[in-house]
Amino acid sequence: MTTGDLPVVGAFVDGLRITTRDTLVSLDPSTGLPCARVSRCGPAEVDHAVTAARTAYEGVWRRTTAAERASACRAVAAILHAHRRELAELECLDTGKPIGQAYTDADVAARYFAYYAGTVEALFGQTLLNHPDLLAYTLPEPHGVCGHIIPWNYPMQITARTLAPALAAGNTCVLKPAEDACLTPVRIVELAHEAGLPPGVLNVVPGTGAQAGAALAAHPDIDHLAFTGSRATGQAVMIAAARTIVPVTLELGGKSPHLVFPDYDPASAVPLIVASITEHAGQNCSAGSRVLVHRDVHAQLSAAVARAFTALRIGPGTTDPDLGPLISARQRATVLGHIDAGRTCARLVTGGRVPDAPQLRGGFFVEPTLFDDVPPDAAIARREIFGPVLCMTAFDSAAEAVALANATTYGLSAGVWTRDVGLAHALARELRVSQVFVNNYSAAGGVELPFGGYRQSGFGREKGFAALLEYTRVKAVAIRVDGDLFLPGGSSG
Ligand code: NAD
Repeated sequence: MTTGDLPVVGAFVDGLRITTRDTLVSLDPSTGLPCARVSRCGPAEVDHAVTAARTAYEGVWRRTTAAERASACRAVAAILHAHRRELAELECLDTGKPIGQAYTDADVAARYFAYYAGTVEALFGQTLLNHPDLLAYTLPEPHGVCGHIIPWNYPMQITARTLAPALAAGNTCVLKPAEDACLTPVRIVELAHEAGLPPGVLNVVPGTGAQAGAALAAHPDIDHLAFTGSRATGQAVMIAAARTIVPVTLELGGKSPHLVFPDYDPASAVPLIVASITEHAGQNCSAGSRVLVHRDVHAQLSAAVARAFTALRIGPGTTDPDLGPLISARQRATVLGHIDAGRTCARLVTGGRVPDAPQLRGGFFVEPTLFDDVPPDAAIARREIFGPVLCMTAFDSAAEAVALANATTYGLSAGVWTRDVGLAHALARELRVSQVFVNNYSAAGGVELPFGGYRQSGFGREKGFAALLEYTRVKAVAIRVDGDLFLPGGSSG
């Protein structure tokens, strides 16, 4: 098949599918072969999408009731659920992730719409005790037109995570998916309109970051920007938003730690520690990429993780392996560069290579890799690798564990493994992260749990009720209550 024969995935703007003359070619990371051509939108298509979103906002969406938006979100959840197989297969093809994970992602995407359908009806303002002669209250209002720029690792989940609360809160949206993984974001927006959303309420403009992304971030008619991606691009988006004075949420990278204490059986922690760095081949902002372990159980845990890594099945996403490929040859080169740097300063326990099985040739695979005795100041202990690479370091006290956990510039999630409830609560207070998981990791997807950055992992919160508040702003109204009505001679009687 030549790239000319590939299916073309267009943009979806104002309720219509549009294609551009220029296209990008999407590769299947499991084989390295082209799997689709995608429209390459630029400033003109972005402007068209923002205009459509503005028209839909002013004309229709801002006048809808919470109950109407809840009902629309429920319809989107239902259609996504009905198309879960199609969506999972597209995501598996486009990102290489194991098909079982892709089904989970389709279900979580539907769940976001169902969750915000429920929560938006519980969104209310406050009555303020300001002055006896005034009735003062707050109104949570939508921002208006929201721009959403997302990465390639969890396109389905992140599309739903960012669009569902914005939509439920009464905003209209323009989504720019990542160039390496546009297929499911475009399909989700199409399906949302099939489910009955008015034209222009959700729009999607695939394209490069330099063209479509930069045009969306700089557009003068955007009222709010939600960016998920790398720190460097987040800075560029924030600079663009500074020029137009637009509020931004930034969901950036991470270097999340597990803290394993000796009162917890290390063997019981191993499955989730391994899953947290091998899910989607470690290409997860909240991957548990560091293990900080008490010296008393260090050797035991290191050996158990190494055993689990060597038992993992590596394969194309369609075979539902334990570990699929990385997204691209470029991402694999980056990960291998980190591994080479790690070899010079830490002990490579297992992995570190490109697997040589014939059936994996062509795909962008890397073995699950464990480094032990990693010095806390090593680059692999501090920088986000975004691959299946786990760095282990021993500690002697809880205070040292906290200092190590907080020693990177990132702060997203942390796993704490202990039977000591008091210690768990104390650690939850000390760790500079937005999510602390005690004796579990990632809370089964955690649609309901607010999530976001500390420090250079960004700011603002997604997921949970907190995200609904991110997509609103507060207006205060004060009304004079006419006391004359109740005075003798007043007009009450
Ligand atoms: P990236 O920053 O390269 O790209 C993210 C998005 O930004 C893409 O859609 C891209 O096209 C767009 N973009 C690129 N340049 C742009 C510009 N100048 N202006 C506007 N948009 C531009 O990130 P990536 O490589 O796609 O994703 C990996 C990163 O995302 C990792 O650092 C990961 O930790 C982070 N991430 C964070 C979260 C979170 O919730 N905190 C979730 C997933 C991924």
